[in-house]
Amino acid sequence: MQISEKQLAQVNDRIKALLDADSFYGKKLREAGISEVRSTEDFLKLPFSEKNDLREAYPLGLMTAPEDQIVRIHSSSGTTGTPVIIPYTQKDVDDWATMFARCYEVAGITKKDRIHITPGYGLWTAGIGFQLGCEKLGAMAIPMGPGNTDKQLEMMQSLGSTVLCSTSSYALLLTEEIEKRGIKDKIKLKKGVIGSERWSDKMRARIAEGLGIELYDIYGLTEIYGPGIGINCEHNTGMHIWDDFIYLEIIDPKTGEPVPDGEFGEIVITTLVKEGAPLIRYRTHDLSRIIPGTCPCGRHYPRIDVIQGRTDDMMKIKGVNVFPKQIEEVLAQFSEISSEYQIRISHLDGKDTMRIYVETNGHVDFNDLSRRIAEKVKSRIGFTPIVKVVEIGVLPRSMKKTARVIDERYD
Ligand code: ZN
Repeated sequence: MQISEKQLAQVNDRIKALLDADSFYGKKLREAGISEVRSTEDFLKLPFSEKNDLREAYPLGLMTAPEDQIVRIHSSSGTTGTPVIIPYTQKDVDDWATMFARCYEVAGITKKDRIHITPGYGLWTAGIGFQLGCEKLGAMAIPMGPGNTDKQLEMMQSLGSTVLCSTSSYALLLTEEIEKRGIKDKIKLKKGVIGSERWSDKMRARIAEGLGIELYDIYGLTEIYGPGIGINCEHNTGMHIWDDFIYLEIIDPKTGEPVPDGEFGEIVITTLVKEGAPLIRYRTHDLSRIIPGTCPCGRHYPRIDVIQGRTDDMMKIKGVNVFPKQIEEVLAQFSEISSEYQIRISHLDGKDTMRIYVETNGHVDFNDLSRRIAEKVKSRIGFTPIVKVVEIGVLPRSMKKTARVIDERYD
């Protein structure tokens, strides 16, 4: 996906603002001797920005607009050290609301909907973003926040909530509770807007069928406004991304080089009009790909695939980027095998090999099963793995997160 002339002009405008403010990235650009980009090639020479840089700028080093224009800050959770603080101007807040309202519209949500918001409110961008977009659209917000399932279900019934906004895990919990209590006929939900995270197709189907709703994946991260920078449409062919506000690239996380459209890699985002804390080429560590071609809905906004995991999960085998979710999805199609699996990658006689261990009971033909799995995996990732079928209970289990991928190449 090429950067357009208009987007280049917007990037230049942001570079100028960063330099003028002499904020954290302004200093970086000055040190790198960059004051302008004139072409795609120039753009690709711009240094990446990283979450660690953002932490270094704590507390307000990212602030690029004058302080009297800053109306709010948000912060990403500081579970691994110093939090990141992102300042917003009123225009940033308005732009975010515009993007979020567009997400709701693309999901077919209207002013007549009653939007039940379960993500948390506070320093982070979740609940408040869902609320902003809802108010901008003109629908009725029911600002529940997380937890207290009894109260959630009571309000959902009394108010006749039609849209559920939540994480996939909370949507699953609500699905199970609604079934357990036998109140499905009292629930008016039609759609779910789910904060995009890695979730399996099985889980998606379970929620969609359990609640009888259509599901939409919404994408975003605190460093870049928050949720609402993209969503899938009714054709469910990937998430449309609002390229009038952000420019999105996919790079090879190992080399930093752009990958061709259609190939998986790391999402890198540049904010085109953000004032409070513009970010240039921000590495999200989220894995996805640009979906080539145009969507049957006719919208011109580019599309990305659902998030496939984090770059830390990715393996490069025989020159191909592979990640566990791809293998997991193939294995999920085989009812004969358990949910346990193990991937071992080794390097023998100058060649990478991938072995996949799966478990089954003694009633199936191991050779036939292994051949069928290998074929399916090949059609997904492009090369044939060695599939080893073992008896149920053979693969290691642990209370903690089980190591499913073992890379023996670097031992
Ligand atoms: Zn579409």
